[in-house]
Amino acid sequence: GACGVPGNNLLRSFSADKEKASNVAKIKVVVRKRPLNKKEIAKKEEDIVTIARNTNSLNVHETKLKVDLTEYVEKHDFFFDAVLSEDVSNDEVYSETVQPIVPIIFQRTKATCFAYGQTGKWFAPLFFYFGSGKTYTMQPLPLKASQDIFRLMNHTYRNQGFQLFVSFFEIYRGKVFDLLNDRKKLCMREDGKQQVCIVGLQEYRVSNVDTVKELIERGNATRSTGTTGANEESSRSHAILQLAIKRPVDGNDSKPARLVGKLSFIDLAGSERGADTTDNDKQTRMEGAEINKSLLALKECIRALDNDQGHIPFRGSKLTEVLRDSFVGESRTVMISCISPNSGSCEHTLNTLRYADRVK
Ligand code: ADP
Ligand code: MG
Repeated sequence: GACGVPGNNLLRSFSADKEKASNVAKIKVVVRKRPLNKKEIAKKEEDIVTIARNTNSLNVHETKLKVDLTEYVEKHDFFFDAVLSEDVSNDEVYSETVQPIVPIIFQRTKATCFAYGQTGKWFAPLFFYFGSGKTYTMQPLPLKASQDIFRLMNHTYRNQGFQLFVSFFEIYRGKVFDLLNDRKKLCMREDGKQQVCIVGLQEYRVSNVDTVKELIERGNATRSTGTTGANEESSRSHAILQLAIKRPVDGNDSKPARLVGKLSFIDLAGSERGADTTDNDKQTRMEGAEINKSLLALKECIRALDNDQGHIPFRGSKLTEVLRDSFVGESRTVMISCISPNSGSCEHTLNTLRYADRVK
């Protein structure tokens, strides 16, 4: 594949060209299309998303009705930093999105990778639609990143005292819950230096990939069981996994470790859930409004970052407040917009692509 042996590429490119690491794009917007699944094929749904080989463009064929009820097709073209078709593997997604960022978190950079897109809506025994692949895309990334982080710690940065910490929490209805501590509800505090801290958030120091894997699995299990046991609930929360690189002051292991850089992975709430603001159920409506607010605030913050505006409107939502320290200073952002290919998801797909387009 395009990625070969990721670890070796990473070490080679980084040690050969250390100072150029900061040339990694400040904001990168990538689209990933998932394949049609069996049920969609059985329902004779069409694949309406075309991705041309070796370009960064994609095309959506929207079927519309004229007033005389004849159908016509409207074509929509989009361009992004990268467009990944349904035959692109998770390894390739990693090397296209997160891998270039990993080395620079050792250089006081905070980086954030988002997965944005429609979620599945399932109402047994009636089926509505499937998710666009956010979780499928996001889940392997922190593990692959920590693998590379350990490689750098054991080679390029051997004996330099770097330490890796993992935390995992979710934001649900504007509140923070620790996924590595029985979904304990947590509060946020801002210190005098504009650093945001989630009080009592469990942070685990890890020294191998297996432990990272265990923690991710534990957090995911805590997330999806929720209070009702319904998967429905996880589609309405933002899941945030953070890998923090720290180093003890003066390299002295007995002193507390100080943050060097951070890499955050965010599996966002289903983008279409932000539209649930007219639902009959009051709770669903409130959740929809909160999701809508946070996704809009996120877009505004990323746009402000891109324009190098001094003022970043992070106070717009809990999500952006939590990410505040990742938006200030040396920061990198990767947005992976996940889309479904089926005709039935056309409206959601166009909404996702328009959002991604606005972020650019
Ligand atoms: P979301 O988190 O956006 O709701 P999921 O990640 O759960 O969506 O994906 C929905 C379904 O589609 C899952 O069954 C998942 O395994 C499958 N899927 C998603 N993306 C891909 C892909 N690129 N290749 C194969 N299957 C995929
Ligand atoms: Mg999901």
